[in-house]
Amino acid sequence: MTRTLEILDRLVAFPTVSRDSNLELIDWVQALLADAGFEVTRIWSPDRTKAGLFARIGPNVDGGICLSAHTDVVPVDGQLWTRPPFELTDDGDRVIGRGTTDMKGFLASALATAERAGQGKLSFPLSLSISYDEEIGCVGIQQMMPELRNLIGTPRLVIVGEPTSMQVATGHKGKSALNVTCHGQAGHSALAPDFVNAIHVAAGFVTKIQGLQDRLKSGAVDKDYRIPYSTVHIGKISGGTALNIVPSETQVALEFRHLAETPAREIESEIRKIADDVSQAYPCAPKVDVDVVNSYPGLDIEATKPIVTWASDIAGTPKTTKVSFGTEAGFFSQLGLDTVVLGPGDMATDGHKPDEGLAKSELISCDRMMDQICSSLRG
Ligand SMILES: [Zn+2]
Repeated sequence: MTRTLEILDRLVAFPTVSRDSNLELIDWVQALLADAGFEVTRIWSPDRTKAGLFARIGPNVDGGICLSAHTDVVPVDGQLWTRPPFELTDDGDRVIGRGTTDMKGFLASALATAERAGQGKLSFPLSLSISYDEEIGCVGIQQMMPELRNLIGTPRLVIVGEPTSMQVATGHKGKSALNVTCHGQAGHSALAPDFVNAIHVAAGFVTKIQGLQDRLKSGAVDKDYRIPYSTVHIGKISGGTALNIVPSETQVALEFRHLAETPAREIESEIRKIADDVSQAYPCAPKVDVDVVNSYPGLDIEATKPIVTWASDIAGTPKTTKVSFGTEAGFFSQLGLDTVVLGPGDMATDGHKPDEGLAKSELISCDRMMDQICSSLRG
């Protein structure tokens, strides 16, 4: 077993589902990094049930490499696993276990590299940013950012190791989740026309959102994405209490995913305008409320940048890609740091699935890339 597999075996055994604490894993990882000679800072979640880490080794100068990973995994509830999800199973050319692909495989490779990095002199620093609560909408990294931005310095590249089959991903869309509350007036259904029906208000809102989707489709386009335009989507509607009561409130949960060239605030203000238009049709009811529940920025780095070409070289995959899923990369890129998404495994075949696994060959490629990162830091 390689050191990377040994570490992955330990990491998978911590059942770090986002709803639960990750502190046991963090204790273990913090000790490993401290033993390897890293300066480690623990960054607590506001309620101190979880934590992230920032760790650095080497001189305090610009031009290092930062490796970024999240520690949480999605639940296994309701999924049919044929292997124990929180135990690493060796299955010939694959290993199986929750988080192997998303994204403890990359973290294991990064930690094995961290141990090796400390064994020789570095001219540039190697740093690790290790987060929590990524799977619930990049919540942890947002909470860590005020401290992280003071620690991270100016690495020449941040590698967010989400699974891309070791291909450099230069972009992904940003995303915002919104909760919209449509108000009406409760009353006897026999007298329905006397009252504002909150479900009718919501219906008007939903219809106009469909119109917004049509406009987005004919707006900005990036052909590197399977869905090449920004999208808006309604995922849940809840309203009303009983058939004989005019509903007084309806909640509409929606999200939009935007291309880098269409800022989130642009689509958000369109949605607020729609809410205002709908409200005007119902002057007797309170205005439609729009609350942004969560959002994360997109990523868009020029594929022709020399640092991206270098990343492709060390990854051994010349062609760059863009990914459909969101990552923490946009937060690093907002700090002005060159950032790519690059890691072992395939999100489409393994991410969030029962019997999630990872090809050993992907881990070997990742380890090989890490070796090249190490030599570049010694140079
Ligand atoms: Zn992930």
